[in-house]
Formats: sequence, structure tokens, C-alpha cells
Amino acid sequence: GIERFYLGLDFGTSGARYALIDKQGQIHAEAKREYPLYLNGESVDWGRSWKETLFSLLEDVPIYLRPLVASISIDGTSATTMIVNSSTGEPLCRPLLYNESCPDALPAVKSIAPPNHTVCTGSSTLCKLVSWWNSDSENKDSAALLHQADWLLWLLHGKLGISDYNNALKVGFDPETDAYPPWLLAQPYSSVLPSIVAPGSAIANVKEDVRQNLGFSEDCVVCAGTTDSIAAFLAARATEPGKAVTSLGSTLAIKLLSKSRVDDARFGVYSHRLDDKWLVGGASNTGGAVLRQLFTDVQLQKLSEQINPSLPSSLDYYPLPAIGERFPVADPNMNPRLHPRPDSDSDYLHGILESIARIEAKGYGLLKELGATEADEVFTAGGGAKNDKWTKIRERVLGLPVSSAAQTEAAYGAALLALKGARQ
Ligand code: ADP
Repeated sequence: GIERFYLGLDFGTSGARYALIDKQGQIHAEAKREYPLYLNGESVDWGRSWKETLFSLLEDVPIYLRPLVASISIDGTSATTMIVNSSTGEPLCRPLLYNESCPDALPAVKSIAPPNHTVCTGSSTLCKLVSWWNSDSENKDSAALLHQADWLLWLLHGKLGISDYNNALKVGFDPETDAYPPWLLAQPYSSVLPSIVAPGSAIANVKEDVRQNLGFSEDCVVCAGTTDSIAAFLAARATEPGKAVTSLGSTLAIKLLSKSRVDDARFGVYSHRLDDKWLVGGASNTGGAVLRQLFTDVQLQKLSEQINPSLPSSLDYYPLPAIGERFPVADPNMNPRLHPRPDSDSDYLHGILESIARIEAKGYGLLKELGATEADEVFTAGGGAKNDKWTKIRERVLGLPVSSAAQTEAAYGAALLALKGARQ
């Protein structure tokens, strides 16, 4: 038959991208866009900016490939919340961004949710909803809550009120029972909550006007999305329990595919559902930010060349950019430990890289202790992935095979979700 393609779009914190793949996962086209800045009075008009970026990216897809796109999916930043009119989809207030906090709603949310539930933080989607509900007296009867990805997908398929169980975790959806919990359904604002499907589920074909304007085919199907960090995990194609992705960016984040669900608020550990498996994650404050306080990227490269990764370093540090750690040690008062500093800078760097590797190993150990499937292979993403000496040190300290992930872009993960949806 004719070759078909699968389109993924990522709406991240600093910009948006698309990736177009074939059924083997090979990339045929990709591009990146910055968000244009629009103001609406005092505040940024994010809705307009995202909408324009969506259609710019769709126009960036080579025109001769567009009729061959079988499916589209989109990921967005987690807990980025929109309240829209439930029939027209027009925003009823400005979008509330992933990192915005609504502490005013926290007492009310804490009074209804179980202790330590993921909604019990000021930036959760539920706190954003409750804050809006308590401040705005109009429009409540005709309101619908959508996440950023849901709203962008709606612009393409036109069915209002649909989300996925990854985006909906922070509004309180329970992916284990596949339902909103009774304590949430008992609230007056439960009427605005979206229906939930699995990430990658086919929702509907691309709307007629979009299809005709852009040249997509009649059978092109729009599929439910996910969050940006889950899409980045999916990109690594770590699809078996025990496969893990360590992200070595400014901070150290680990994500492990597990047969069992693990949650522990003390360590900030929680699980997202991925079909019949769980994606368990934890994030330490250690990572590249500390390295950047001490060395330039060029120095990092030069000094790393001098390291013999098979020799264990006797230096025992706990590198942190500031006071406080959450995972794998829950201690808000923990002090950074970066002394004694040896005369040789490469010995110093060796000690730091090895100490970060020990924190990573402790992280995987903690996830296992908490009940997750034991990690058996680690893929690496982020700025630290390109450091081969560090990779060797980590292999020794973790006792596991470690390699760079072949793909790390969230847009690629979203394209894999589109591929999944097209196959259903
Ligand atoms: P983020 O997106 O979280 O800001 P990146 O994934 O872009 O981070 O990675 C940047 C980090 O990578 C920086 O904090 C830097 O210290 C680290 N980094 C850059 N080059 C190297 C290297 N050669 N070895 C180890 N770490 C590096």
C-alpha cells in the first residue's frame, strides 16, 4: 500500500516542535517554533500564541506529505489548565500555566482529597479549577476544563470535553479505577471535568475545515495526547518493565517502567499509567545545575577526557545547587556537600560525577524498595547523556547497561502515540 506517516506535536515550556515518522519510527520531517508573544491587556495571551503555533507547525509539514498523515497526537505541559465555554471552546479566563500556583484553593482541596494526594499542591490542575470556581461567579453552567494538549487537539477534531489519563492525573482522575474518585464527583465543579480516554486513543477525524485548508486526508485521525515529560519518556522507546530513562539536565530525573504502581509523597514519587504498566518517577535536586555553577561546558568536556571511569573515586559528595533534597533522600534541610576539593580539577569532577551516579543508583534502589519493578537497563537523556566517561562511571556504579536514548524529543513520543492510535 501507500506509505503513511504519523504526526506528533510537542508544546513544551520554551517552544513547540513537530516530528513526522513512518511506521518503523523513522523521522521524515521535523521543525521547531518559538511561541509568538501576544498581549491581552497586562497578561500574555497564551491561547492565541499556542493556537497560532499549532497551525504554523502544521504548515511546516511539507505539503506533499500532509495527505499521507494517518494520525496526529499532541503533548502539552502538565497541569497547564484552560477553562473554556463548553459549547464554543472559547477560553473563559486566561490559561493557567503548569508552574502557576493557586495557594488560595489549597485548603479546600486538602479538605476533600486523601492526605498526600497529587492534587494537594498549589500548582495542581484541581487547585487551579477550584480557584477559578471560587472567584468567578458567572459562566459556571457552561464551563469545561481542558488541559493545554486537550484544547489544541480540540482545535483539530472539534469534540469538546476529552482528555487522557496522564494529563488528568493532577485534576484527581484515578487511573487505577479508570474513574474520577467519589470525593471529586461529589463537588459542584465536577460538571466541568473532561471525559478520559487512554493516551493515543483515536478521538475523531480531523475537522473538515482544517483538513481542507491544510491538505490532510479525510481519514486522518486525531488521537488523545499526554504530558510533555511522558512524551519524552515514550521517545526513548523503553517499552518493557525494568527499562528506565535517566534525564541528566539541570536536575536528575529518573523514570522507570514498572508492572506495579508506586506512590510515596514523602519522596515526591508517583506513577502515571501507561496502558497495563506504570511509569514511576522521582526527581533529585542534584544534576547539571551544580556542574554549571563550577565549570563551563567546555571545561566539563576537557576535564572529563582526563577521567579514568573504571577507577572508583574515593570522594563522597552530595552535590546540590541549594539547600534541600526530596528524592532519594527526603530532607528539606540537607546541605550541599562538595568538600574536600582535591588539587586536580579532573579528580574533583570525577568525584562529583561519581557522587551523582550514586544518587541515581540510590534512586533506582528506592523505587525498587517502594515496590516497583527492578531496573535492568537505563537510557539517558539531557545534557549529561553526551558525556561518555560519565556513562561508564554510571554503568559501574549502577551495575546496569547504560546508553544514550536514540530519541529524546517529546514530539517524537507524541508521534509514537499517533502511530499507536492509527493501529487501533
Ligand atoms: P535542562 O534542559 O534541564 O536545562 P539540558 O538537558 O539542556 O538541561 O542539560 C544541560 C546540563 O547539562 C547543564 O546543567 C550542564 O551542566 C550539563 N552538561 C553539559 N555538558 C556536559 C558534559 N559534557 N558532561 C556533563 N554534563 C554536561
